[in-house]
Amino acid sequence: MTEDPRTDSLTQLTAEVVACRRCPRLVEWREAAAQDPPSRYATEEYWARPVPGFGDADARVLVVGLAPAAHGGNRTGRVFTGDRSGDFLFASLYRTGFANQPTSVSADDGLTVSGLYVAAVVRCAPPDNQPLPLERDACLPFLVRELRLLTRVRVIVALGAYAWDGALRAMRELGSRPLVRPKFGHLAEERIGAYWLVGSFHPSQQNTFTGRLTPPMLDSVMVRARELAGLE
Ligand code: SF4
Repeated sequence: MTEDPRTDSLTQLTAEVVACRRCPRLVEWREAAAQDPPSRYATEEYWARPVPGFGDADARVLVVGLAPAAHGGNRTGRVFTGDRSGDFLFASLYRTGFANQPTSVSADDGLTVSGLYVAAVVRCAPPDNQPLPLERDACLPFLVRELRLLTRVRVIVALGAYAWDGALRAMRELGSRPLVRPKFGHLAEERIGAYWLVGSFHPSQQNTFTGRLTPPMLDSVMVRARELAGLE
């Protein structure tokens, strides 16, 4: 069997991401979360390492989040897996034809996605979900490299203003820069070089519990991403 060089390179990137200890504050935080889990996860063994991207090497749509949650991705080892944000996101990805199942609970739960890749600007869980600028800058090269490897990506869906900013920074590193910096908004869209950038409110509990982001609203973003990516 001929090895797909893209998959091979993504594999290499994943290996480098999970071994990274570049940000001392985040290394300490991700490991501390594992040492002091809430009672419902007390018997679980935490991943407690950087969380790599996940998905289809032939993806035409890249979904970008902020960073893993301390007891979500940092626990399960897969992006947007094991917390309510992930439940909300993957239910939408299932309804809009990107995922084979509506739930994302653990790294071995059988979830697969098609035409889509999911990543984050920052790969380690940060305190209060707020990475420092130098931590973002340290981690951004992983997203740049991912974007370079995912050669079929045409649409980047940014979940929240932080991801919007991170995606713009990554695209700029690849030579795609808008004349005027586009403003983040839900269903905002902008053509930047070879990409479409589409904004969505982040599926955090803060947004989903208050109704700021509803399932139909997220579905609208993913349907639009399908259209812009030329997916049936
Ligand atoms: S946030 Fe990124 S750069 Fe910093 S330690 Fe984690 S993986 Fe490495």
